[in-house]
Amino acid sequence: MTTFDYDLFVIGGGSGGVRAARVAASETGARVGLAEESRYGGTCVIRGCVPKKLMVFASEFAHMPGTARSYGWDIGDGGFDWQAFSGRLKTELDRLEGVYRKLLSGAGVETFDMRATLADPHTVELADGTRKTARHILVATGGRPVKPDLPGAQWGIVSDDIFDLPELPDSILIVGGGYIACEFACILNGLGVQVTQYYRGAQILRGFDEEARGLIADEMRQKGIDLHTGTNIVAAIPAAGAADADESGFDIPAELLQERHGQGDAAYDGPVRVKATNGDIKTFDKLFFATGRKPNTAGMGLEALGVQLGRNGQIAVNEYSQTDVPSIYAIGDVTDRVNLTPVAIREGMAFVETVFRGNPTPVDHALIPSAVFTQPEMGTVGLTEEAARAQEEIEVYCTSFRPMMTAFADQPDRVLMKLVVSKATRKVLGCHIVAPGAGEMIQMAGIAIKMGATKEDFDRTVAVHPTMSEEIVTMRNPMRTA
Ligand code: NDP
Repeated sequence: MTTFDYDLFVIGGGSGGVRAARVAASETGARVGLAEESRYGGTCVIRGCVPKKLMVFASEFAHMPGTARSYGWDIGDGGFDWQAFSGRLKTELDRLEGVYRKLLSGAGVETFDMRATLADPHTVELADGTRKTARHILVATGGRPVKPDLPGAQWGIVSDDIFDLPELPDSILIVGGGYIACEFACILNGLGVQVTQYYRGAQILRGFDEEARGLIADEMRQKGIDLHTGTNIVAAIPAAGAADADESGFDIPAELLQERHGQGDAAYDGPVRVKATNGDIKTFDKLFFATGRKPNTAGMGLEALGVQLGRNGQIAVNEYSQTDVPSIYAIGDVTDRVNLTPVAIREGMAFVETVFRGNPTPVDHALIPSAVFTQPEMGTVGLTEEAARAQEEIEVYCTSFRPMMTAFADQPDRVLMKLVVSKATRKVLGCHIVAPGAGEMIQMAGIAIKMGATKEDFDRTVAVHPTMSEEIVTMRNPMRTA
């Protein structure tokens, strides 16, 4: 029988990889090695969900003094100190990285702080040239933000860079209309940055329920974000060097633009001049591309071994997260299935169950509740009204109103509660909430909907009063049927 250095070698120490390594080692007794080239905790902990959510909290205080005054508090507006916040943020992320390292060492996982690539179906090669063999290899290398291919894209930053800014810019242009673009538009607006957002499509947050997207766009504009839909960026140049070219800095063909401004000083940190598809030319302190992410598969030796990659570079896997090479598995964002931390963790757990406990367990990707941390938040589970309507006859229960807390303070904020119901089975097919705390609410609604709750089950549940979410169980008549 072949002997291997490890039963499992995991490449990538993010949420999915760490969970799989830890559980395989501590609960099944497997000998596990793990390599991470950057920081333990991965995108979610180091440059994603966690620091983002802390920034959401920081930005939400902006509105609180005004609201507090309406409730009788004698309180001034105060100011936001980015250095003070980001110092604490770094300390917290260091602490969390330490926790992740400890979890691995406590479980007996041997870690290597360096890049690993695949040499053969059972061998990984570490950056120092050492080779390690393993019965199973799990690729959990995640993804990274990508910039569009346009002249001057190098002058823009991506979400990874936001947390390390030495100071907050006065103004920023955010390009994109997805999760990251909209969340950071709201965060930075709350922190006092003048935010402009360009999205190429007709409405932000493509793929989410249309009514919910519309309300979020309205609320973002109402809170001061200069959101332009149907608008994209054509080119960017460093504003410092623009004036010497000509009045606008853009009055030359795109290929020359690239040449003229392409070799700039990599350390350039000044304002950026941007030309938009609508002809606008504007200068911003920072240009931020939130234009999607790409799986980290380049240069890993995957294709040479016969591991199939998809169009976006994602690893193709079956329902057990197994690639075309039987000893190689992949989980999380690198597979580009549902790119969310809790999903990567589920995939990691299912992998361990399948491979180390002999209990083949596919991951259930249906009815995953999720939240977009815009202001207001969106919580969503199941089908959008549009997708449900295309599938079957439905009833839509929906209400939009001014919530008690901010209505009292004469603020115009609106929230939305919506249920999409199957006419035939009465099952709630989708639930969409736009409201402060919607992420917390949808977690609970998600349980009922995952269990197959009907509209009548919702109706039988007594309301919690006075709350915003009580509307979810008190909507009597459908707003429309389709
Ligand atoms: P998304 O895919 O959600 O959004 C990318 C955006 O960029 C879209 O609006 C897209 O437009 C636009 N875009 C793409 N290419 C170009 C281009 N060449 N020029 C202009 N615009 C372009 O990616 P994100 O980076 O926002 O997020 C990545 C993933 O991370 C999400 O899908 C999600 O799974 C996860 N995530 C989850 C969060 C959460 O759960 N709260 C928070 C943050 C991220 P179009 O719509 O036209 O394609």
